[in-house]
Amino acid sequence: MAPDVQPYWRNYIDGAFADGGAGRLAIEDPATGETLAEQALADAGDVDRAVQAARRCHESGALTDLRPVERGRMVRRIGELLLKRIDEIAPVHTLESGKPLWESRIEIEGAARYFEYYGNQAETLEGRSIPLGANYLDFTVYEPYGVSAQIIPWNYPLEMTARSLSAGLATGNTCVVKTPELDPLTNGFIAEAVEAAGFPPGAVNILCGLGAEAGAALSAHPGVDQIVFTGSVATGRAIARAAAETVVPCVLELGGKSAAIVYPDADLANLVENVRWGIYFNAGQVCSAMSRVLVHQSIHDAVVDGIVDMARGLSVGPGIERPEPGANMGAMVSEKQRDRAAEMCGEAQRQGAKFATGGHKLNRPGHFLEPTVFTAVTPEMTIAREEVFGPVLSVMPFSTDEEAIALANSTDYGLVGGVFTRDLDRATDAARRLKAGQVFVNEWYAGGVETPFGGYGKSGYGREKGREALWNYLQTKNVAIRLN
Ligand code: NAD
Repeated sequence: MAPDVQPYWRNYIDGAFADGGAGRLAIEDPATGETLAEQALADAGDVDRAVQAARRCHESGALTDLRPVERGRMVRRIGELLLKRIDEIAPVHTLESGKPLWESRIEIEGAARYFEYYGNQAETLEGRSIPLGANYLDFTVYEPYGVSAQIIPWNYPLEMTARSLSAGLATGNTCVVKTPELDPLTNGFIAEAVEAAGFPPGAVNILCGLGAEAGAALSAHPGVDQIVFTGSVATGRAIARAAAETVVPCVLELGGKSAAIVYPDADLANLVENVRWGIYFNAGQVCSAMSRVLVHQSIHDAVVDGIVDMARGLSVGPGIERPEPGANMGAMVSEKQRDRAAEMCGEAQRQGAKFATGGHKLNRPGHFLEPTVFTAVTPEMTIAREEVFGPVLSVMPFSTDEEAIALANSTDYGLVGGVFTRDLDRATDAARRLKAGQVFVNEWYAGGVETPFGGYGKSGYGREKGREALWNYLQTKNVAIRLN
């Protein structure tokens, strides 16, 4: 039985929970298509109040005057509080997003880990002294930009908020977070954790609003000093244009069409397990999903058989009934996303690709799509070039290493890439030649909060995660002192 979910969730602005100027938004359970709860919907006026509150808090020095270790402890505390409530948060997240319960738990643990990691980094940010001869003392200091605007996608709403908020706060910025329209509810738990961790009013503001209204108002607001965005290329462009108008930096983490290259000596059992994680985790709604498998022609049929067996073995159904990690998959986030993916499958078939398995909607309530594998995919087909953002894999054969790299690099994107081989020379050569922000060898998603993440090409710019992300939130000031 599904647990009860609080019927109405409010925004968090200037240290208080608030209704929305645009009314309420019904949030659906994608596993049933029924309304789960209502979320306060922010308008441009709410966004303005949130930015003003963040600016007041920044200018008060409430975060910047703290010794960094104190700020770091508060950031870490947010994560500890989320973990304490994991049993309460996970079912709500599963019911609003469709993902299996065990995946929601992984997401909450991931969110908590960001607060731990960046909380720990807070006191490691030190400037340097630059020698200018006997008559000068020169040093650099890192200062926060001020108000950080963070626009969050629906595929990992907790983890993405945690990723940007933790780094933003650790570096002393105040933050305004715009949560996604489809699954904003669990960001309410982050707001409660922020308050309990002792952050002053205005340091963190979390509101849900429509992208075209609240999102656009936030990214264009003259009181914002820096923007972090994760989502589609089209919206990324709109954000970059807005940032250009106000002359503020932005980080864009956009989509991908990432490929795994499978050489003849790969461990096939390991590959198949990685394909399960790579394309069926979160029903493939992952920017760094393994959406293409490029396989050496000598093992093509064996690899396809192994992947098809695994895909057919997945138990697909309501995430709330899937508490145990393993071979299962939940609903896609919305009817629109599911229908878009199903339509892309139809188009692939019309262009000549062949279903090895799947490709259809499930004949039951909710937004389910079968785990899908295509063969006979050629590089010019839409399915080989465009992000599906669903549980749809394209398998393509290659005959030489050159061809494999050229295929992998043949899309406009460049988020991640992977290589499956026991030959370290081959793996490192491929890693050098892949146009992608990160390369996985023998394990898709290898790495963690500590490792920098971001795209080449249309996958965006700037890096999230790792030490690299901290520089998005900081500007360097040089102080040169003339001595007598
Ligand atoms: P989107 O880019 O429209 O939405 C992402 C966020 O941006 C949401 O919070 C949304 O409200 C906000 N937004 C929308 N329009 C805005 C605007 N004009 N100004 C400011 N903010 C705005 O993405 P979506 O519609 O949720 O999904 C569509 C596609 O985006 C997906 O199919 C997928 O390809 C891609 N996507 C990628 C990621 C990723 O992690 N890279 C995540 C989600 C979606």
